[in-house]
Amino acid sequence: MNEPTNSNQFQLDEAGLRAALADSRLAPWTDALIEAVNTRTETIQHGDLPRWQAALDALPDLPVTRIDLDHEAGVAVLTDKDIAADQAAKSQSIDAPDERNDATELLNKDDNAQLLQRALEGLMPWRKGPYRIANVTIDTEWRSNWKWNRIYPHITPLQERTVLDVGCGNGYHMWRMRSQGASSVLGIDPSMLFHMQFQALQRYINDSAVNLLPLTMETMPANMHCFDTVFSMGVLYHRKDPHTHLNELMQSLKPGGEMVLETLVSLGEEKTELKIDGRYARMRNIWTLPSVPMLARWMIETGFTNIRCVSVDITSRLEQRTTQWMPYESLTESLDPEDLSLTVEGLPRPRRAVMIADAPV
Ligand code: SAH
Repeated sequence: MNEPTNSNQFQLDEAGLRAALADSRLAPWTDALIEAVNTRTETIQHGDLPRWQAALDALPDLPVTRIDLDHEAGVAVLTDKDIAADQAAKSQSIDAPDERNDATELLNKDDNAQLLQRALEGLMPWRKGPYRIANVTIDTEWRSNWKWNRIYPHITPLQERTVLDVGCGNGYHMWRMRSQGASSVLGIDPSMLFHMQFQALQRYINDSAVNLLPLTMETMPANMHCFDTVFSMGVLYHRKDPHTHLNELMQSLKPGGEMVLETLVSLGEEKTELKIDGRYARMRNIWTLPSVPMLARWMIETGFTNIRCVSVDITSRLEQRTTQWMPYESLTESLDPEDLSLTVEGLPRPRRAVMIADAPV
């Protein structure tokens, strides 16, 4: 709102953040968080910011009547018209073909629908989701709901908890956490595009208990010791020193708090660690892939207790793929076409583990 439209310098809405955090357990940390963001973003100039800001500004007002963070089509923001159209489509699939045609026509006549579609396209590529905003379904590269389905049955229920989501992307999982009853969810992610995508959702959901700050874990205030649950999903392998990352996660947790860690792993025993030299599945910035027992050992060394691995899963090409909203190469192009168990670099195909552990009481 208070960002100058033509600036390629990010500006934090400090007053908005102060108001949002005032009633949360993070209130005493507000100044430190603002300072951390300003220190980091002072030097961040992003040439695409004016274009993304223009897309945000172009989002139309919608008469939203239902927010459904667990909708089957994705985190959803719906108007009465969408709800009616969905119902008509459902009954059409049984025995009333004409009703759906009426509803579709109604949507096509809607100028807002065109504006919405175009504004959201201005924030492409959309990698994490899916989302459904009015009649627009954003089919993202990742079906991030699959990851959530692997994780949430195993965690301590989030009811009334203060949650940190490190490397939260555009915030998809934060909405799912909030829907489970978390009292406050703070996400941090250095990506400016993800930040703008989050703002697009927040424009309609308008929930001051969910906030995203453009920070890395390294630039967060140290030793906060105030979160009940800390998630780090898809981040550890981007850190050159994974031990430091685990230590920072520990320092952010309350005594007895829970850490949920999702990361790439390799197969093998306690001593196994696959060091990456160059690219992995075409990704830069991947340093090392520990085996699950090795990862557990790192966690013990950091001081975590009650460590368990609740899921190991080979990423499917149905979970990560090229879509209309992310039209570039995806997992398929990262695998050896002759042997789908290998990456194009000849390394084992991506395999992800979910580990849960407690900070000592
Ligand atoms: N957690 C989401 C997104 C994973 S993608 C999910 O599981 O679907 C990894 C994210 O980590 C990216 O958005 C990237 O910007 C962010 N990231 C990379 N290094 C980071 C760091 N040091 N601190 C916090 N986030 C980081």
